[in-house]
Amino acid sequence: MKIKKIAAGVLAVNCYICFEEQNKEAFILDPGGDADAILEAIKELDAKVSFVLLTHGHFDHTGAAVELSKYFNVPIYINKKDMEFIEKRDQLFIMNGYENDINILFIDEASTFNIGKLPIKCIFTPGHTSGGMCYLIDNILFSGDTLFDGSIGRTDFVGGNYETLLGSIREKLLILSEDIVVLPGHGSSTTIGREKTHNPFLNFSEY
Ligand SMILES: [Zn+2]
Repeated sequence: MKIKKIAAGVLAVNCYICFEEQNKEAFILDPGGDADAILEAIKELDAKVSFVLLTHGHFDHTGAAVELSKYFNVPIYINKKDMEFIEKRDQLFIMNGYENDINILFIDEASTFNIGKLPIKCIFTPGHTSGGMCYLIDNILFSGDTLFDGSIGRTDFVGGNYETLLGSIREKLLILSEDIVVLPGHGSSTTIGREKTHNPFLNFSEY
């Protein structure tokens, strides 16, 4: 799998285009904006886009989701709990251009789907938002705003909860193999092993 990172939208979220070379199939993770740059990258890869995948519903991750979904005529996958905030038009949960006829499909931990031949494992990690998801493909974890290089997601927004977030990270992410590469929604990449030992939010015993 080839992964292309694009700093997209007002907060320069890490938008990832994941391209399965054998079937030339791709998906777009967290397109926060800059649809033109994303479209250009897709064209360069000569990829067939199958879906837009969201880690959560915050506006800086969803900005171009509807535009791209319409352009490629593909669904947007999101957890239902975050979609409820978007439907309520909560301040931070905005999906530009969202209307009832947009092709939204809900995902949770039981969801199974593929990109090309590669299975995508959906991991429910509430805490930053109530419907936060991480995605594991091969040895790559897309961690959204749940886990960052040396940090964790904010929990002071609506739907956030600090204890829940720590629980999600400890029980769902730190149990993964240490060599798994973590690609977060903001900042640089890391590994599960590195976060296990170096992340100050997860290692209180050091203080
Ligand atoms: Zn967020």
